[in-house]
Amino acid sequence: MQDYLQGLNDRQREAVTHINGPIMIVAGAGSGKTKVLTTRIAHLMAQGIDSFNILALTFTNKAAKEMKERIEKILGNNEARNLYIGTFHSVFARILRFEADKIGYPNNFTIYDTDDAKSVIKTVLNEMNLDDKQYKPNQVYNRISAAKNALVGPHEYMNDYALQQEDMRANRPAMGQIYAAYAQRCFKNGAMDFDDLLIKFYELLKNVPEALHKYQHKFKYILIDEYQDTNPAQYEVIKLLGAMHENVCVVGDDAQSIYSFRGATIQNILQFQKDYDNVKVVMLEQNYRSTQTILNVANQVIGFNKGQIEKKLFTDNSTGEKIKLIRTASDNDEGRFVADTIQEQKLRNHFNNRDFAILYRTNAQSRAFEENLRRMGIAYTMYGGTSFYSRKEIKDMVAYLRLLVNTNDDEALKRVINYPARGIGKTTIDKLILVANESNLSLWQVLERAREAGFRAGTLTALEDFVTMMKSFMSMLQKNNAYDVAAHVGKQTTIIKELFNDKSTEGVARYENIQELLNSIKEWTESPDNDEGELVDKSLGAYLQQITLLTDADNKDPNADTVKLMTIHAAKGLEFECVFAAGLEESLFPNAMAINTREELEEERRLFYVVVTRAKKRLWVSYATSRYKFGSLVQNEPSRFIEEMPAELVDRSFAGGGVLKQTSGFGNKPAFERMNKGNAWSSAGQAEKKYGPPPGKEKTNPSYIGATPPANKVVEHKASEDFAASDTADLKAGQRVEHLKFGFGEILKIDGSAHNPMATIKFEQNGEKKILVNYAKLRIV
Ligand code: ATP
Ligand code: MG
Repeated sequence: MQDYLQGLNDRQREAVTHINGPIMIVAGAGSGKTKVLTTRIAHLMAQGIDSFNILALTFTNKAAKEMKERIEKILGNNEARNLYIGTFHSVFARILRFEADKIGYPNNFTIYDTDDAKSVIKTVLNEMNLDDKQYKPNQVYNRISAAKNALVGPHEYMNDYALQQEDMRANRPAMGQIYAAYAQRCFKNGAMDFDDLLIKFYELLKNVPEALHKYQHKFKYILIDEYQDTNPAQYEVIKLLGAMHENVCVVGDDAQSIYSFRGATIQNILQFQKDYDNVKVVMLEQNYRSTQTILNVANQVIGFNKGQIEKKLFTDNSTGEKIKLIRTASDNDEGRFVADTIQEQKLRNHFNNRDFAILYRTNAQSRAFEENLRRMGIAYTMYGGTSFYSRKEIKDMVAYLRLLVNTNDDEALKRVINYPARGIGKTTIDKLILVANESNLSLWQVLERAREAGFRAGTLTALEDFVTMMKSFMSMLQKNNAYDVAAHVGKQTTIIKELFNDKSTEGVARYENIQELLNSIKEWTESPDNDEGELVDKSLGAYLQQITLLTDADNKDPNADTVKLMTIHAAKGLEFECVFAAGLEESLFPNAMAINTREELEEERRLFYVVVTRAKKRLWVSYATSRYKFGSLVQNEPSRFIEEMPAELVDRSFAGGGVLKQTSGFGNKPAFERMNKGNAWSSAGQAEKKYGPPPGKEKTNPSYIGATPPANKVVEHKASEDFAASDTADLKAGQRVEHLKFGFGEILKIDGSAHNPMATIKFEQNGEKKILVNYAKLRIV
């Protein structure tokens, strides 16, 4: 066993070794809160507390996995596999698989992801004859989700005057009825959406005394990371669970509360001391993560928020470099600058790809970074894109499996009844739905007695064949593991064959994805079990539950040597040597959607605090003076958060206007020089006033002096003027070009008159366009 107490400071050790009674650790970023929580679990176990009696809640499954690994390392055994550790959703789902029947659900309930949930909403709207333009499924979903997380059920919702008024004003008077119908439909389908995992567990504890007693008794020690982001439903569950032993340990930072839009509230932190007697409060004050400079910037900016819990934060780390502020003319330039800088830093300071993170406010910003990293051949991993499990072919295949496990899952049935095509058309499906609604049966139940519903002979045969096939799959469930069933389904339904025969690029990728799915099922069926025997359940049902709760991040290897791209929300709790905080523009960050009230603006500022404090050594803050938004070019002011950083800690030499251009020769000469690109930046006149002088003339940029990339590795930094009208002689079919507005593309052909040639270009993002070369802002790449 490691001497895990030794590396801790006094405060940390105090928090780790305080075993009994409620304890709250409030401290700023990088002060070791998560480390304390992890070490505390190891300590509890080392003191002989049974791992089965410990519940630890983390913000992501990935964080839980890392924690488990650390604990195993500290203790030198694999006891940690018995812990109940994971996100609220995954831990509660795991318990509900044993208890759901006590609140009227089948234990093999299906978990609906957001796509499924929205599909149910559409069905409900349709049945209620409501217009999905007036009631946008996405908005309806968010509204229902918010209500659930605030523990407002359909009945309470419909009787709440304030909510009614709000809905009247927003022109959605039927919202309450939709919520009720949606909840009813999920219940009938034997399905829970993500929010239900919280509130159904809450209902279980509240309404079933034996269950409450059982889990209160079981979870003698409860630990929660990122407590500032728990929502009311989560808060109430913890309160119930912790009431017997009161051994609740919460860890959080009010300055990092960034999920209030999901109902999380920092009130939880303030309330904690009132909920229990004798709460031990520990403040950690030493930051181990970041340089002095980074920490000072973070502390100053967050100081603009009102009503903070008073905290001190210092570090013994070195001063470090100033924060580099970068201004570019466009989002593409921003992407190029970042990619070039990563390359340069790798060469100069021997960083690896994995040392870099590019963090942004919204997922849509990733494109420019991806393109440029790809162009430079820098490996990257993007988080938060379409998750593997939300791809169409995967969802299709998984829908079969879901239906086998829970025949009441109407959403799954609708997905597969005519995929692959078996002659069951829309009219037939509509009729099935109609009969199901009239008789209050599930679609599967109607199918089983299709003969009574008066279908034409041909249709009836197709329906009966489908039922027979599904029943043959079901008969396998008892005796076969998840992999055998899935492989059989893939084969018998001809899904695998169909995808195999599709030799288009997409078809090949889809085929590979299905194979990958089967591999993952196989791996899962062969993975080791825990001691309690719960995960011995290698049934299909158990598999399906865990994949629905996997997020995109859970499938990716955090240690891979790749640059990480993700939103700031997704970066919570993580740390990187070098961080690029991108898109610091008014309306993007702070986001235009979130600056209507002081509370919203303060939440954006906390988000900025989060991004700054992800960096250990170096931090770049970038903004583009113009970028495309919904297809049109918009000019942006720099973010107010830039102004809020202490001026003396910010290096503005990249923000004055110029971007970098490599000049000839690497030898003794400075390898990079700044270009004076005055007019490219004219749109940023105002910014120049605020943020520094226009670019100096051919001034040597100090941070590039001595940079000696290998001679064959030409790192080119270009500004927008490089998009000057092209030299037409250079252009030919097959060439890759970049257009200022349309982005990257390939020239398909050049025609038109000799004096006024026209290029037909296929753009990656914007499709095929004809462009007059003499006027085009084109650049060969
Ligand atoms: P955040 O608020 O961002 O979640 P945190 O407070 O949870 O941060 P940790 O992630 O636990 O902070 O720790 C930050 C870094 O400091 C980690 O790399 C951790 O290993 C290191 N660290 C924490 N405490 C110590 C210590 N006593 N000695 C050395 N390193 C430490
Ligand atoms: Mg943490």
